[in-house]
Amino acid sequence: MTTAIRLSVKEANELADQIEAGGGDASLIREAAGNVATRAVKSPDTAVEISDDEYVAAMRQKSPVQEGPDLKCAICHSSANILISGVCEECFRSWMLSAKK
Ligand SMILES: [Zn+2]
Repeated sequence: MTTAIRLSVKEANELADQIEAGGGDASLIREAAGNVATRAVKSPDTAVEISDDEYVAAMRQKSPVQEGPDLKCAICHSSANILISGVCEECFRSWMLSAKK
């Protein structure tokens, strides 16, 4: 199941700016924002829809990632080989999506 996250064109561009500032790839978000912007030039608040996956991937790109053998998730306390902002992939995803909705 894929649900979409709505951002305004302005928010989407800000998110893309942040990702690019961190050296990430924001082309999917730029594309989504660009498509909406060309459709609705007169209303900059028109929603941009990006999928959950794109949103999580975008947030992940601008979050600190730790890799190592002895890491522990700050939310579910399970051990993980990779932590994003101190939590495991699964918790990061639900955290980001719950923060958005
Ligand atoms: Zn976790």
